[in-house]
Amino acid sequence: MLEKQICMVCQQKRNNGLRILNNYICDACEKEIVECDSRQILYGYFVWKLRALIDTDKEQELHGS
Ligand SMILES: [Zn+2]
Repeated sequence: MLEKQICMVCQQKRNNGLRILNNYICDACEKEIVECDSRQILYGYFVWKLRALIDTDKEQELHGS
């Protein structure tokens, strides 16, 4: 069973999407990111967010969570 999860980009609860580390991106936002490479702001936001997530994960590995 799929649980509804909150998309980290649009903050909407969605059924379908992609889990990245401990976060979640819905279908709609994933498509926006993949298909609309002219949307530099969204892409930039996405990359920034991912980096922050990866850094957070490293922090947790180092210090325990
Ligand atoms: Zn979304």
